[in-house]
Amino acid sequence: MAVRNPQRAVVVGGSMGGLTAGLLLRERGFEVDVFERSPLPLEGRGAGIVLQPDTVRWFAEHGGTEAVERVSTGSSHLRYLGANDEVVYDEPSTWRFTSWTATYRALFVDLGADAYHLDHHVAGLDHDDREVTLRFTNGRVQHADLVVFADGISSTGRRRLLPEVTPRYSGYVGWRGTVPEGEVSSRTHDLLHDSVTYATASRTHIVMYPIPGRDGGTAIGSRDLNYVWYRNVAEGPELDEMLTDKRGFPNPVSLQPGMVQDRYVDELRASAPEVLPPAAAELVVRTAQPFIQPVLDIEVPRMAFGRVCLIGDAAFAARPHAAAGTAKAAADAWALADALRDADGDVVPALEKWEPGRLEVGRNLLKRVREMGRHYQVDSDADPADRNLRFGLYGPDH
Ligand SMILES: Cc1cc2nc3c(=O)[nH]c(=O)nc-3n(C[C@H](O)[C@H](O)[C@H](O)COP(=O)(O)OP(=O)(O)OC[C@H]3O[C@@H](n4cnc5c(N)ncnc54)[C@H](O)[C@@H]3O)c2cc1C
Repeated sequence: MAVRNPQRAVVVGGSMGGLTAGLLLRERGFEVDVFERSPLPLEGRGAGIVLQPDTVRWFAEHGGTEAVERVSTGSSHLRYLGANDEVVYDEPSTWRFTSWTATYRALFVDLGADAYHLDHHVAGLDHDDREVTLRFTNGRVQHADLVVFADGISSTGRRRLLPEVTPRYSGYVGWRGTVPEGEVSSRTHDLLHDSVTYATASRTHIVMYPIPGRDGGTAIGSRDLNYVWYRNVAEGPELDEMLTDKRGFPNPVSLQPGMVQDRYVDELRASAPEVLPPAAAELVVRTAQPFIQPVLDIEVPRMAFGRVCLIGDAAFAARPHAAAGTAKAAADAWALADALRDADGDVVPALEKWEPGRLEVGRNLLKRVREMGRHYQVDSDADPADRNLRFGLYGPDH
């Protein structure tokens, strides 16, 4: 089929994956619009991200790494703490952490406000081999030659295209929080401020690392200490009750800061000193508004559907043990742009060529993080020296 020129690409979802896809598709010659359902620019979602090369590849290849570097901080050790804060494992290990908001803002500036449409919630989809039609809840109807669904874990695109695929609960939730590093004791600060630090106990573990402060501060003293404490919660009534917010609404995907029922926060603070080493317990107890993300897996059998595709969490959502979610979303977009270049912009063959490699990356990541979860949350046999427990999208440390 002759390729119309220029072609129109629509990206649904204006987060990391969507912005990266929008920028790359425009570079490949598409007229691009990104539609985001949120009425306001996205802010401070996620407490901070482990910086992996794919996440910031756009900046690395287009100048502008300073925008992200300026708001990134780092650590130089990997540590495991014993029950009394003794360091039971320590190896040199360099990671950088950046602020979600800063990375989002820098991508947004590069895309430009004219191509980014807030308050646009996609509800309906029709597609054939010639065109895709999207319908929005505000009445807008948009036609496109290519539609990329980058609409995250509760993707509308996935539900329309693969209604049989549903998120699978892992058996545990991640309690998350951040504490300004100046607010913890100097003993705790010394232990945690320069490392990715784990503590394990029977069928639970916590991971902690420094991230830029809420105001973007990256100097020691002005950052935050961030953690995810993974705790097993039985699926069914127990989980449903916990994920019911203070107002009584169910929140199956995440419960934002300030919305967790007080009795669960009280229980968290009471349990922390009983289960965790003192430094980790101090972080948890000092958190003003801990929040909860149930840990879910999503696995799709397909990512390409003629002129429509799913990327990032809209396709595969993986437990966060590899800290690779944003990197995977960006990597899906890069591979898509490469496939379109190789196919001279011919969308359908490009998507067909793109799909197998992305399914493989998603499946491998899921396999890896499920194993990690089993060691930490089920068998309680995580070996700190096991390289398979390291962060990384494609494998340990990369
Ligand atoms: C506990 C925990 C810790 C994590 N830690 C890390 C980490 O350290 N590093 C990391 O890389 N990842 C981490 N992740 C994963 C990361 O949050 C996601 O993988 C990543 O945000 C996926 O990006 P995305 O662009 O695919 O989707 P999302 O960031 O979820 O964005 C989807 C966007 O689509 C919009 N949208 C949804 N539906 C519609 C619609 N119908 N119409 C229009 N817009 C819509 C949403 O509003 C949203 O802005 C963590 C996850 C969890 C649960």
